[in-house]
Amino acid sequence: MYDVAIIGGGPAGITAAIYAARAGLKTVIFEKNFFGGQIVNSHRIDNYPALPKISGYDFAAKLLDQLKEFDVDIKNSGVKELDLKSEIKIIKTRKEEFQAKAVIIATGASPKKLGIENEDKLTGLGVSYCATCDGAFYKDKIVVVVGGGNTALDDAVYLSSFAKKVYLVHRRDTFRAAEVTVNKVKNTKNIELKLNETVVELIGDEKLEKVKLSGGEIIETDGIFIAIGNTPETELVKGQIELTDSGFIVTDANLKTNISLVYGAGDVIDKKLRQIVTAESDGALAVTNILEEL
Ligand code: FAD
Repeated sequence: MYDVAIIGGGPAGITAAIYAARAGLKTVIFEKNFFGGQIVNSHRIDNYPALPKISGYDFAAKLLDQLKEFDVDIKNSGVKELDLKSEIKIIKTRKEEFQAKAVIIATGASPKKLGIENEDKLTGLGVSYCATCDGAFYKDKIVVVVGGGNTALDDAVYLSSFAKKVYLVHRRDTFRAAEVTVNKVKNTKNIELKLNETVVELIGDEKLEKVKLSGGEIIETDGIFIAIGNTPETELVKGQIELTDSGFIVTDANLKTNISLVYGAGDVIDKKLRQIVTAESDGALAVTNILEEL
């Protein structure tokens, strides 16, 4: 039996595994795709302290190399079923079954897409889902932000500090965001609102050049930031642990879920900032608290 089983091999899961192994816990980590997680899709990471200008691929490779230095059982298979309610937790992959005293769910989340043509092709070539990650590449450029919630409005304000012009496209005429942020958006000179509009076309070959709105207007732009929400990977734990209405895992400040010795870490939990540093911090903190609870 393992002391701790970690589901998901992104920054949160790998950090948890390193901390658990160093604390002497018998540890297993499961990953269904690539160790390193969604950061593999990033062309360049500029905000990870001490590793500037690193590609997502290289970052993921470094994470896996470091993990391999520790005494962790590394399973390249997806977890298909979890039984978290009993004292001994059961983890099932397609072929095997494992037992653990504690489980960390670090299955991540992915940004929702617009679902229009060229979106995948131009991702990283002007189409981005993360202003915090890619915003700095758009100094003095024209950008479009899509969405009407806190993230989209925060993104618009953030981008307006270095972009020449920001168009904020929202399908309604009211926002679902804090009043203070809405006021900030309305009072920022280089943000122009495009309300009751959606983006219907992304135009460009080698990189994004223009976007077309539902009303027919075409905006020439260098980048589009899509901030219409995230989809958490929580199918596995639905009905077993408490989730928000949007499906994120509810944890307390110590990353504990409502079930004893089941923790959440990284993008999959309900939190404000989904980044590598916060995911790693969650993984480390979850293990620290498991050590106290075991
Ligand atoms: P993830 O990285 O999503 O990892 C979760 C892992 O769990 C995945 O590998 C998934 O395959 C696995 N998994 C899911 N379900 C199962 C299952 N049932 N069984 C086994 N494994 C499972 N952040 C920054 O700080 N700086 C940046 O510059 C930056 N750029 C980004 C660029 C892009 C294009 C994207 C998409 C994200 C970027 N981010 C950036 C955000 C960052 O990647 C995430 O915040 C971070 O990866 C979250 O880590 P995580 O471990 O919580 O989740």
